[in-house]
Amino acid sequence: MTLVNHLIHGEMTAGTGRTADVFNPSTGQVSKQVALADRATMQQAIDSAKSAFPAWRKTPPAKRAQVMFRFKQLLEDHEAAISKLISEEHGKTLEDAAGELKRGIENVEFACGAPQILKGEYSRNVGPNIDAWSDLQPIGVVAGITPFNFPAMVPLWMYPLAIVCGNCFILKPSERDPSSTLYIAQLLQEAGLPKGVLNVVHGDKEAVDALIEAPEVKALSFVGSTPIAEYIYSEGTKRGKRVQALGGAKNHAVLMPDADLDNAVSALMGAAYGSCGERCMAISVAVCVGDQIADALIEKLTPQIKALKIGAGTNCGLDMGPLVTAVARDKVKGYIDAGVAQGASLVVDGRDLVVSGNENGYFVGGTLFDRVTPEMTIYTDEIFGPVLCIVRVGSLEAAMQLINDHEYGNGTCIFTRDGEAAHLFCDEIEVGMVGVNVPLPVPVSYHSFGGWKRSLFGDLHAYGPDGVRFYTRKKAVTQRWPQRASHEAAQFAFPSNN
Ligand code: NAD
Repeated sequence: MTLVNHLIHGEMTAGTGRTADVFNPSTGQVSKQVALADRATMQQAIDSAKSAFPAWRKTPPAKRAQVMFRFKQLLEDHEAAISKLISEEHGKTLEDAAGELKRGIENVEFACGAPQILKGEYSRNVGPNIDAWSDLQPIGVVAGITPFNFPAMVPLWMYPLAIVCGNCFILKPSERDPSSTLYIAQLLQEAGLPKGVLNVVHGDKEAVDALIEAPEVKALSFVGSTPIAEYIYSEGTKRGKRVQALGGAKNHAVLMPDADLDNAVSALMGAAYGSCGERCMAISVAVCVGDQIADALIEKLTPQIKALKIGAGTNCGLDMGPLVTAVARDKVKGYIDAGVAQGASLVVDGRDLVVSGNENGYFVGGTLFDRVTPEMTIYTDEIFGPVLCIVRVGSLEAAMQLINDHEYGNGTCIFTRDGEAAHLFCDEIEVGMVGVNVPLPVPVSYHSFGGWKRSLFGDLHAYGPDGVRFYTRKKAVTQRWPQRASHEAAQFAFPSNN
């Protein structure tokens, strides 16, 4: 059986740790094994990154960017192979896999601008014969820990930018779908990245703890569930590391009575059921302002949910594939059971879906609940599956209060034709990323991505301008070249221009 190896100092290695099974979620079969790093293997990667850092930090940003230009080309050339690897291990459709890769490539494009984004600030004559400048310098060895649901895009949020900023990077991808992540890293080696600047080390808690505890690792970027985000944030910051830890979500879409219903329905179908609901920006709650819009929404959604084309993600032309693991499938079905038991009205039930020819795959059909209330677990918890909950409220203010009271604050959106309502919503909603008639408001690569409340721990958002701040340290230099003949006596008062 194929073993998915680590990439350490430019070489593929199995290391000395354990292994785990990798499944094809469409068939339920074990397709590969993945190496799980022990502490000794992780230390090899840390040593490699440390040894590569002095030369890489001195490499001109323009040269670093040239590697990224070649990398971008290679990613585009290998889109079909990467999408197939994603789909085989994650289960998402080929088209959806290609979409995540394209959004990842946007981050490589942003990193290609390294000479521009790393330009410092300069002020001449801040005092007599004194100039001052600020410089953005790399941090050193930094690490990223990424989730299963975007094995291409989320790692590409992190290391292209970290690397063009002059750092050396250790990536610990999800052990559930590691192959596309590794394949992409190999393309970066092919693009001319020096050995050790990027190391990919697979693993579980043991590997992550080794990164948290290593004094050589100066910063940690994490994307995953909220409990692990909190753990990494608290353990990392306790050790003096910079940490940005992006966590889970419960994203609400508000439907105002004047919404363009047909467009809102199309948007909700894609945002709730695309990728089987396994997106941190998936819409899982539709908040309907008034019964009329709720009834009309259900009437239009129901036949479309029942008509979803569901099957093995590697087949073309589907809407939805399976969930990632049997555990994920059982968890989602458990939430649907709980919703029924707690009194929500189950409009479309996806629990009994069987995909002919893929009977052992981890499938759950599109599911719709109506009359969901805030104390139900299908409302409070992140289900991470194809389940949309309708909550009925009487006003925009009530809809906003509901959203503001939720512990998560990743993404949200409003469907309306009323500019005043949209403006109020954008201004006062306590969520990090907001869409107006846009269901998945994932910022483009030159803005930054991040939620509020328990969806993000740390001060800076991911990628874009905040990513540059996260992966660099600012140094301010004040420089004076006194005129040769001059001599100044010692000053004991604090120097100023006044
Ligand atoms: P996860 O938290 O289970 O795993 C994320 C990473 O943490 C993986 O690399 C995993 O190996 C590692 N990990 C798992 N258990 C660990 C432990 N006990 N100690 C240390 N490390 C551990 O998340 P997942 O299931 O892979 O991904 C889905 C979650 O990620 C959802 O909650 C989703 O909302 C979230 N997510 C958030 C964003 C965002 O930008 N906010 C983006 C994508 C996914």
